[in-house]
Amino acid sequence: MTGNRPRNGLLIVGSSQAGVQLAVSLRALGFTDPVTLLGDEDHRPYQRPALSKEFLQDKITKESLIFRSEDYWREHDIDVVKGEFIEKVHTDPDGSGTAHSVSGRTFAFDRLALTVGARARRLALPGADLDGVLYLRTADDALELKARTPQAQRVVVIGGGFIGIEAAASLHTLGKDVTLVEYADRLVARAVGEQTSAFLADHHRSRGIDIRLGTGVEAIVGDDGRVTGVDIGTEVIAADIVLVGIGVIPNTDLAEQLGLDVDNGFVVDRFATASDGHTLAVGDCANLPNPIPGAPDGARVRFESVNHAIEQAKVAAYAARGRQAEYAGIPWFWSNQGDLKLQIAGLSTDHDQVVDRSPADPTKHSVLYYRQGRLIAADCVNVPLDFMMVKQALGAQISLPADQVADPTVPLKPLLTAALEGEHA
Ligand SMILES: Cc1cc2nc3c(=O)[nH]c(=O)nc-3n(C[C@H](O)[C@H](O)[C@H](O)COP(=O)(O)OP(=O)(O)OC[C@H]3O[C@@H](n4cnc5c(N)ncnc54)[C@H](O)[C@@H]3O)c2cc1C
Repeated sequence: MTGNRPRNGLLIVGSSQAGVQLAVSLRALGFTDPVTLLGDEDHRPYQRPALSKEFLQDKITKESLIFRSEDYWREHDIDVVKGEFIEKVHTDPDGSGTAHSVSGRTFAFDRLALTVGARARRLALPGADLDGVLYLRTADDALELKARTPQAQRVVVIGGGFIGIEAAASLHTLGKDVTLVEYADRLVARAVGEQTSAFLADHHRSRGIDIRLGTGVEAIVGDDGRVTGVDIGTEVIAADIVLVGIGVIPNTDLAEQLGLDVDNGFVVDRFATASDGHTLAVGDCANLPNPIPGAPDGARVRFESVNHAIEQAKVAAYAARGRQAEYAGIPWFWSNQGDLKLQIAGLSTDHDQVVDRSPADPTKHSVLYYRQGRLIAADCVNVPLDFMMVKQALGAQISLPADQVADPTVPLKPLLTAALEGEHA
């Protein structure tokens, strides 16, 4: 900034988990310039996780999804703008610039933060545009699904990722006949190990959800413009609603416009800064150096999780203050699926050893992953203590000895304490 030009401050495009945390963290760090938190949705900034869980099951209201009160934004002098989609953005070499929305408004900024997230991947099949083929990414999607649920009895969910399974479990809880169709031969293959996939499939089947693995979809079929079923080649599964959960695509249009490096999301450094050295990019849209201690050199990762959006937003807030803070803590994730609470600590990718310490109780499951003898992750279902111990161990950059963790009746805490003491001896 030069001369007496008025300060335009930081413009945050995308007002969800990452954008909200960035705005909040900036003020907490004493950032006094203007902050504009802008999003295209017509709702006050809200959180998504409950959309496939409590909100879908009618256990909570829309109001309880809202992040902060109007008073909070006012008191912290954060300008929250709803319903404006930024279609064009221009930056000068110093990182300042102007953003233009579809409705014709312009927003000048000294620095830009892109927290634009990801959008649901659309089904590209015959019949995909039939009425009753739904998605679940936004509050509007959830409101539509909820509005249609009372009239529907048979639901087919396409996609056995987290959103698909969570929604399937919620809809089953509501008394619907649910069939879940997954192309891969196991559930959530990208995020959990084989034992966990098998555990989840067994459990949900035992509760009455019809899970078809290794099953592709050939077409969505309908009558008079409305969906009536899903053609899987060998049969047509009848459906009043088809819910598609086949992953997300990061929103990188603005990055491409700005000439920023893009590779499955905005390529950012450890300080959440994009390749121009100024623009910040945070959350589901960002591809960052893998923050897990011991990760292979040069490994990069794009997370789709609340914890990540929060932690990386804090890093970005420091960057906006001209200070360099790196990602703290260990990435973790949870997924509530009916009566199961899955918690994942770390990243199990590239593990070469699995230790299963699942208790005898069929609703519990606990698996630890190792690479070259070192603990790297855990999948825990309804075993919160194991999750916490592994998260702490990873955070402290210590391993729990693989040969001592297999017995589920042996708690991890003493092993963690011993390892910590050994570390500090
Ligand atoms: C149904 C559901 C359940 C989930 N459950 C869990 C869970 O149990 N645990 C967990 O850890 N995570 C969960 N997640 C994932 C989690 O919600 C996301 O990781 C998180 O929302 C990412 O936040 P974000 O701010 O990076 O992106 P997003 O939440 O995608 O927000 C980006 C925002 O930017 C807006 N935007 C995009 N482009 C523009 C533009 N050009 N102009 C203006 N605005 C724009 C978008 O409309 C959106 O509002 C769930 C997600 C969904 C959809």
